[in-house]
Amino acid sequence: MDIGIIGGGASGLAAALAARESLDNAVTVFERQNRPARKLLATGNGRCNLTNRGAGLENYHGGDPDFAGPALYRFGPEDTLRWFAGLGLVTRTEPSGRVYPLADTAGSVADVLRLALEARGGSIQCALPIARAEKQDDRFLLTGPLGERYACDRLIIACGGMAGARVGGVKDGYELLRGFGHTVTELRPALVQLRTDNTWVRSLKGVRTQARLTLEREGAVLAAAAGEVQFTDYGLTGPAVYDLSRAASVDGAGCVVYLRLLPELDKVDIIQYMTNKQNDFPDLKAENLLSGALHNSIARTVLRRVQIPQETRLWALSEAALAEIADMLCRFDAPLTGTLGFEDAQVTAGGADTAQFDPETMASRLMPGLYACGEVLDIDGDCGGYNLQWAWSSGRLAGLAAGGLLEAAV
Ligand SMILES: Cc1cc2nc3c(=O)[nH]c(=O)nc-3n(C[C@H](O)[C@H](O)[C@H](O)COP(=O)(O)OP(=O)(O)OC[C@H]3O[C@@H](n4cnc5c(N)ncnc54)[C@H](O)[C@@H]3O)c2cc1C
Repeated sequence: MDIGIIGGGASGLAAALAARESLDNAVTVFERQNRPARKLLATGNGRCNLTNRGAGLENYHGGDPDFAGPALYRFGPEDTLRWFAGLGLVTRTEPSGRVYPLADTAGSVADVLRLALEARGGSIQCALPIARAEKQDDRFLLTGPLGERYACDRLIIACGGMAGARVGGVKDGYELLRGFGHTVTELRPALVQLRTDNTWVRSLKGVRTQARLTLEREGAVLAAAAGEVQFTDYGLTGPAVYDLSRAASVDGAGCVVYLRLLPELDKVDIIQYMTNKQNDFPDLKAENLLSGALHNSIARTVLRRVQIPQETRLWALSEAALAEIADMLCRFDAPLTGTLGFEDAQVTAGGADTAQFDPETMASRLMPGLYACGEVLDIDGDCGGYNLQWAWSSGRLAGLAAGGLLEAAV
């Protein structure tokens, strides 16, 4: 069987290797960039967080997150790590469950995939953006940029999503699938920086802190996260911010981000800390009230927000003033104004409607012989290795199914 795969990224290469497990299958990967797995090289800040050992269905989102179940159950993180080990990749797991190549460079992940596919006789055609795909009789016909034609019996769309435009995020996959009658849901950037009213955050540009965050609208909490936050001139970034970003991107109108700036302490503890400081060092200035607990720039901003002059001596701070400071430390608010765009996003929320695909095979329910995998489908994961796991799981399933190998693999 001739199997064509459009997209030589994470899911396309996983699909190609799976389909080529039978040498009866001829596998050709068509890649629009001049090398395969270009985006993979940018993942995890160049280190590639290739999976998360704790990955479960709860880490995935989309119109029907359960769609991801069969692929993840068949080929979960442990299967993926065994598979990568078989390709020669040595990995290391961080306490958080995030897995990275031991070489600490994404290039080693891209290399083992490419080298294995070449060794197993799969073909990768680079710098070949497929502009059109159609079905004539029982064959798929693909058209390249110069009008050149390629034919295959089965076709896998593995073009990824819009996210990471600088490293190859495009809308081609959605357009190719639309050409076969598929529906694409609304596309939004996710795992992306948040824009907020910058009145207070701008002066903190570059400052990092640990915080607990909530995204709220009129008292209702839409999302919550904890971890590192970095202030920027336009808003907020950092791992904890990414965890809120999907909700912010999809349903953020009228929302406010609240930061709990001393996440380990509750309000009573904070007041106790400040009272002790006041008793022990009454002549200190207010700007030093939180020295030792919080970044000085944040402490100064908090004082400005509650309108206490930095020069005020600690002995002069009233109980009400301390309570006001504690309240601001527990609920530092930054009204949400939006998110950055697809250029800066790590993943696309939305995609090809999964109701039109079979979750057991990744096969199109509309077009026999057509499959899709990876980010082009309406499934996206949390930050932490979950998106690449979806690419490996769904890619392998699509490759096995297209290659007629699914039963053999059970
Ligand atoms: C900066 C950044 C960091 C990230 N870090 C992580 C991380 O550490 N861990 C994690 O789990 N996820 C991470 N992600 C997300 C992850 O990279 C993607 O979810 C994953 O790569 C999706 O795999 P895919 O195969 O669906 O798409 P891709 O890996 O994007 O591959 C799609 C391929 O198809 C090609 N293509 C598109 N259209 C055509 C066409 N018409 N013809 C031929 N080829 C075409 C593209 O050039 C591309 O190579 C990150 C993303 C970004 C942008």
